[in-house]
Amino acid sequence: MRRIAATVFGTVAVSAAVFVSGAACAEDPANAPYAPFKMAEGLYYVGASDYAAYLIVTKAGLIQIDGGDAATGHQIVGNIRALGFDPANIKVLVNTHQHFDHAAGLAEIKRAAPGATFYASAADGPVIAAGGKGDPFLRGARFEYEPLKPDVILKDGQKITLGGWTLTAHVTGGHTKGCTTWTFPVTVAGKVRQALVHCSSSVLPGYRLGKTETYPGQTADYEKSFATWKALPCEVFIASHGQFYGLHEKRKALDAGKADAFVDPEGCRSFYAKSEAAFRAELKKQNP
Ligand SMILES: [Zn+2]
Repeated sequence: MRRIAATVFGTVAVSAAVFVSGAACAEDPANAPYAPFKMAEGLYYVGASDYAAYLIVTKAGLIQIDGGDAATGHQIVGNIRALGFDPANIKVLVNTHQHFDHAAGLAEIKRAAPGATFYASAADGPVIAAGGKGDPFLRGARFEYEPLKPDVILKDGQKITLGGWTLTAHVTGGHTKGCTTWTFPVTVAGKVRQALVHCSSSVLPGYRLGKTETYPGQTADYEKSFATWKALPCEVFIASHGQFYGLHEKRKALDAGKADAFVDPEGCRSFYAKSEAAFRAELKKQNP
């Protein structure tokens, strides 16, 4: 049984009724198989149609960013092989946040890469280690998944280096308390660009902000995170969901010959402007 409601994780404008109705027995379009491809030098898309995942190929091994849903995890391992790489060479495994659509596939990836070091934030790591249990909002069996214990707990600003690549972890809470945005330099069409993997800034239908909060400090976390996101360099704008940055449209442009299709600083700025406006509107609505 697939969760059709899972798509709410990427969609800001969705009715609470759809969300609360939860598990419908329909194929989840967010998890549809999607052919992997090269986005930039050493950077590959290996996720599903919307549940995103990224592979970085370094001279010292592979870095895997995000695990998708349980079904995406299998797709990711297959996609890495289809690209001609061996998942067993994954040395670094990281994640954007503990929700099932980004964390449930991590255990499958770790099975294919037993030597990988799994890094997670102090707030989200324990939830992933408990298979989704402990989230203040998404409670119940349908949000739980195979647990994976982090090998290393990340600090805000921590850098991970492998084979000449350096990834920086930015703890940008709100959507989840330990939501982690990743930045790293990457070469696109011969030019070094700053890539940003956005965690999520969505306010899920049912989140409480202001005086009463889904978790204590959530509103302040969103405020701090929007300040962080707006200050971070963002040229190659990618994210935990393909729909956040127009994955399908940009891929079409890439296939049509636009080598820098994923370089989109304007798209990044406008995404954050819209997302922050949605957060402020919801905060005001709940705290008139
Ligand atoms: Zn989420």
